[in-house]
Amino acid sequence: RAKRTLTAGPQFFTAELDDAMRSRRYMAHELSSALARGQMRLVYQNQVRVSDGVVVGREALLRWDHPRLGSVSPGVFIPLAEATNDIIVIGDWVLTEACTQAAVWTDGLRVAVNVSPAQVARDTWVDELRRALEVSGLPPERLEIEVTESALLNQTPDTLRHLMDAQALGVSIALDDLGAGYSSLGTLLSFPFDKIKIDRALIARYPEDVRAPSALRAMLTLGHTLPAQVLVEGVETLDQLRLIEQQGFDEAQGYHLHRPQ
Ligand code: C2E
Ligand code: MG
Ligand code: MG
Ligand code: MG
Repeated sequence: RAKRTLTAGPQFFTAELDDAMRSRRYMAHELSSALARGQMRLVYQNQVRVSDGVVVGREALLRWDHPRLGSVSPGVFIPLAEATNDIIVIGDWVLTEACTQAAVWTDGLRVAVNVSPAQVARDTWVDELRRALEVSGLPPERLEIEVTESALLNQTPDTLRHLMDAQALGVSIALDDLGAGYSSLGTLLSFPFDKIKIDRALIARYPEDVRAPSALRAMLTLGHTLPAQVLVEGVETLDQLRLIEQQGFDEAQGYHLHRPQ
């Protein structure tokens, strides 16, 4: 409180902003011990092959349940962990945990793990990946790494090399949220992605936006040109599923099919 009187403009820092900063600080503080306190866990969302509806993989999604803050959305705490660099420790835990759990699945499905740009940029990342596979016993072919375009755009050439090294181990690489941020054709062409995931914002336009089907078809053509498998994220209705079935998409993920659990 005393500090505020030192600022020039009266109430330049509003009480609301003050609270917001304090809560972000509180959240960052709590986040740093969340793993050690056992507050983090993974849920999984099935990924379905569109041609026959068979579940072919599962995406690991991180959850943080805090005694006071409740369930904090990854949309909130992942960017925070990226800002504090806690993402390195958390991300390594996610990788090992997901591989360890997937290794004992009796159906032998593939597991997809999200990684942050800062993780992949590190020189030790491929070693961490190798170690996660080793300790879990998961065959590399059953692991898929999801990266976003932002992971590739602002990074050093190291990032691309690390992803190539991962592919050389037998791990597949998916480009997540295509169409969400900056969409760069250059990004797509600069790395041999095994899969692209079309951001859910695109299918969400269907059926209201009459251009949605042709936009989706264009993305599918682009993906197959690379060539990569193409998955549509955020399928929420039967109509949307029918559309992407008709268009020949490879895979789908969304609440209409399976919720994360
Ligand atoms: P993402 O990787 O694109 O994951 C898909 C998100 O969409 C998940 O949100 C999922 O619950 C949600 N979703 C799935 N189907 C539907 C649907 O039909 N409709 C709608 N509206 N949403 C759907 P979630 O779990 O809240 O995760 C948000 C984001 O947080 C993820 O987006 C990913 O970028 C990030 N994230 C989650 N777990 C991790 C992690 O372990 N590491 C890193 N680095 N990021 C993570
Ligand atoms: Mg993802
Ligand atoms: Mg996504
Ligand atoms: Mg995302």
